[in-house]
Amino acid sequence: MKKIVILGAGYAGLMAANRLAKLSRDYQIHLINESENFIERIRNHEYSAGREVKIYKIRDLISKRVSFTQAKVECLDAKNQTISIANQNKKITYDYLIYALGSTDHAKVESSYSVNTLWKADELKQAVQAKKSGSLWILGAGLTGIELATELKESYPEWKIGLLDQKPFAKNFSLKARNYFLETFRKMKIELIESTEYRIHENGIYLNQTKTFLEADLFVQTFGFQCSDLGRRSNLLVNEKNQILVEPSLRVLDYTNIFVAGDSALVQDSILRMGCVTAMPMGVHAAEMIHRCANDNEVQDFSFGFAGRCISLGRKSGLIQMTNSNDEAKPKMIGGKLAAFIKELVCKYTVFSIRLERSFPFRTYFWPKEKILKEQDFSLNSGKLAS
Ligand SMILES: Cc1cc2nc3c(=O)[nH]c(=O)nc-3n(C[C@H](O)[C@H](O)[C@H](O)COP(=O)(O)OP(=O)(O)OC[C@H]3O[C@@H](n4cnc5c(N)ncnc54)[C@H](O)[C@@H]3O)c2cc1C
Repeated sequence: MKKIVILGAGYAGLMAANRLAKLSRDYQIHLINESENFIERIRNHEYSAGREVKIYKIRDLISKRVSFTQAKVECLDAKNQTISIANQNKKITYDYLIYALGSTDHAKVESSYSVNTLWKADELKQAVQAKKSGSLWILGAGLTGIELATELKESYPEWKIGLLDQKPFAKNFSLKARNYFLETFRKMKIELIESTEYRIHENGIYLNQTKTFLEADLFVQTFGFQCSDLGRRSNLLVNEKNQILVEPSLRVLDYTNIFVAGDSALVQDSILRMGCVTAMPMGVHAAEMIHRCANDNEVQDFSFGFAGRCISLGRKSGLIQMTNSNDEAKPKMIGGKLAAFIKELVCKYTVFSIRLERSFPFRTYFWPKEKILKEQDFSLNSGKLAS
């Protein structure tokens, strides 16, 4: 009987566990997660805006064939195929490992809040609710920043909400989508400052270009996700975000029995980005590849294609940006109530998919499959070689 250990019960880990459980009765599957609950991270910004967010018991989301341990993983000894658990003199061995510890926080800006974990989103909620009004600046006007700004403004209209980014806003969206965002911000009275270098001070932000000072009661950082340093400490190859370098099959470069799925995985020169949209299929793929390895079959490259980006703009509106499979924006977008409805369906579909994989003996989760590696520009390369 092969022993398979899965680290992390987020979107990737849960999908991996439920898929493995149906691939063979000969696997002993162990899932380890710090908390006994599954938190829908993609709703953390809703929670900070004072909305109820459902918390699920991990045991209720996994197949009965998966054994679950609530524990913090402290060490990974890849050579000896062993995991150590924090505060316990306990070691767990494995034949195959799926590393799906996701991304945690990145404390780059001191004294800033975050919505990366439910606990942090709760701190933000407490801080906003402690005052009737004030000014709050969101650092980073990416997808999370936009969703958080609109959600907070809808719930706390007395607060002045601003979005600040060093880069140009919505650069990877169509012009129509960018204009839609700007019109939404104008209507909701959300201030946007883009393409501006800034410095954070105790009670505000100094804008370098215009030499102006913005008063701020609270800052929230939404950029720069960082992964657990467990991979780095275990001598696996990692990048500056602690993402583990893997082959396109999601297998770790030096260890043929370790696969990485979700935010913790880095496939170089690929179209993949952190998101539950990629974490879930990666979890399933890692499970399928372990099944192939256990049956002496060759591993296959992970394939995935994007279809669109779904962004909520508060509870009543949203924006769906159509994209090609490489995640590049097409001119077409959907806005308003219909987009809000689609976004909510997509959020519900994540937990529904995990449950569906748990409930049926056959495969239930599928996704668009395209090559994930970016096209190489061979003409440029050959030019360089020739010179
Ligand atoms: C506010 C917000 C909104 C978002 N909205 C979207 C969206 O609309 N669409 C989208 O695609 N993505 C969205 N994301 C990103 C998405 O949430 C992540 O990409 C996704 O959660 C990654 O899944 P994962 O399984 O890799 O990791 P995670 O979901 O982070 O799960 C990792 C699990 O590992 C556990 N863990 C970590 N370290 C240890 C340890 N040492 N020992 C034991 N357990 C450990 C954690 O507790 C967690 O349960 C959003 C993120 C945020 C914060």
